[in-house]
Amino acid sequence: MNEHYKFVNDPLPYAYNALEPYIDEKTMRLHHDKHLQTYIDNLNNILKDYPDLQKLSLEQLLVNIDRLPAAIQVPVQNNAGGVFNHRFYFFNMINTNIKQPVGLLAVNIKRTFGSYEEFQGRLTAAALSVFGSGYAWLVTDRNGILKIITTPNQNTPLAQNLWPVLIVDVWEHAYYLKHFNVRADYIKNWFQVINWNWANNNYISCIGR
Ligand code: MN
Repeated sequence: MNEHYKFVNDPLPYAYNALEPYIDEKTMRLHHDKHLQTYIDNLNNILKDYPDLQKLSLEQLLVNIDRLPAAIQVPVQNNAGGVFNHRFYFFNMINTNIKQPVGLLAVNIKRTFGSYEEFQGRLTAAALSVFGSGYAWLVTDRNGILKIITTPNQNTPLAQNLWPVLIVDVWEHAYYLKHFNVRADYIKNWFQVINWNWANNNYISCIGR
């Protein structure tokens, strides 16, 4: 995955229809090829006149928003955030038989939330609570302490020194074609396509960052 200007839209790590019947092919095509592409194009366009900033990675841009030229702080937040969040979202899904947490992440989800079911209920409630557009996340700090948070628009947890473990996109474009206005059904289906191996590897690599 390319992490610096000029950003490109890498293909999905699976076929557009791979998440059927939980998330439909048409939504995935539009979400990846149109929505994410727009954030990438906008971000490249914003950075084209700032050669110094072109050396920064996506993560570095997002962590240093406050130090960027004032005129581009909001557009970079919105569009670099849009790229980061969507890449993370697409990678945190897969269609497999593994429907429960694995490894150290499984141990610490149980320790933190009591059970997988309790965790699922808490993340679902957070995702339902997002008013307007945004995301719900399972995040960790560098000590491996897990927490559920929400962010509005294209904000990320990076600025709070938190690293994402899982993300669920609850912008309407993520579910409206298949699930219409019923966000709860989409969230239920999203739980069926979580890439738990990826999430666990990601969690382990975040600890001590
Ligand atoms: Mn989206």
